[in-house]
Parts: sequence; structure tokens; C-alpha cells
Amino acid sequence: MELTRRQEIMAMLRDGEWTLDELARNFVVSKKVIIDDLEHISRTVARPSRLLIHPPTCEGCGYRFKDRTKFNDPSRCPMCKNEHLRSQRFRIV
Ligand SMILES: [Zn+2]
Repeated sequence: MELTRRQEIMAMLRDGEWTLDELARNFVVSKKVIIDDLEHISRTVARPSRLLIHPPTCEGCGYRFKDRTKFNDPSRCPMCKNEHLRSQRFRIV
């Protein structure tokens, strides 16, 4: 039986950390599609596993985004307005 994209994403996230860009590239879909998948996965992943978000950080001032509940990447740093941000990464633990 062929795995669905969401099942494949879950398998990847159990193996390592991935950014939205990497996942979108891997499956040749838009980031929006991946965000929908991640929202679905976060609701359905079986306990005690959970979807973990390693927060984005600012390459300019080192600001670390925290308490993020959204799966999209922020566009810029709230502290120094730098747009060069290190993408958040996802994994299942
Ligand atoms: Zn910054």
C-alpha cells in the first residue's frame, strides 16, 4: 500500500528535523499545503508522541521566537527587523 503524503511526512519527522521549505521541496507542493499537513499531523499524532517545533531564530540579533503556535515562518525579527531568520524546524518526538 502506498503511503499518503502525510504518512510520509510523519515518517520523515520521526527520523529528523525539517523546515517548511525542505518539506515543500521534497514533496513539490507549496508551503501552505505543508502547513495544512502539519496542522493535521499535530492533531492526530498518537500519544505519547507529539509534533515539536524548534523555534526560528534571528541571524541578526539572535532573538529566539518562542511560544509559537503557528506553523508558518515569521517574516522578520520583532526586535531588530532583520529578515534573515533561521527557519523553524519540525520533528516528531
Ligand atoms: Zn533580530
